[in-house]
Amino acid sequence: MKCTYCGVEMQKRRATREHPYAYRQSGLKSVLLSGIEVFACPKCSVEAPIIPKIAQLHESLADEITHLPRLLRGDEIKFLRKHAAMPAQQFAKLIGVRPEHLSRVENGHTRSFGKNTDRLIRALTLTAKKGKDARTTLLDLADRLDHPAKQPAAFEIAYALKPDKGWQPIDQAA
Ligand SMILES: [Zn+2]
Repeated sequence: MKCTYCGVEMQKRRATREHPYAYRQSGLKSVLLSGIEVFACPKCSVEAPIIPKIAQLHESLADEITHLPRLLRGDEIKFLRKHAAMPAQQFAKLIGVRPEHLSRVENGHTRSFGKNTDRLIRALTLTAKKGKDARTTLLDLADRLDHPAKQPAAFEIAYALKPDKGWQPIDQAA
């Protein structure tokens, strides 16, 4: 295997705990892998790892990040979002921030979100991963909260019990 940058034959090494491989391709700043083979260019020192079972690795990383007992960093938020296959635009809408703001946080230009948003992000990425229906429902909710069809006329919410249909909401405007 030759280096794509300088054409020099790459040398194979085994990543160990003492000399691990920094998995920056994941977008995460601090993931070190060991027990895998890595091809390293002796000239420009670029490295190409062989990562088996990558899906399982990412699943495990996502799980670990979701349970971190501190506020998530931007790179971790981005990893969770991408792992859940959620486009940035959609994700920003779900957590109720502007896409530019999300982008600044994800790229580390602004400090992370507060505790509430942080927890929401964990819940949403978990939900999005587990079920597409839940995501659609949440997106619909965010849309309705952002663009209410009408202002509520009163604080009461009226329901009527109908013999055939059970409880039905009564449209106050009607
Ligand atoms: Zn090279």
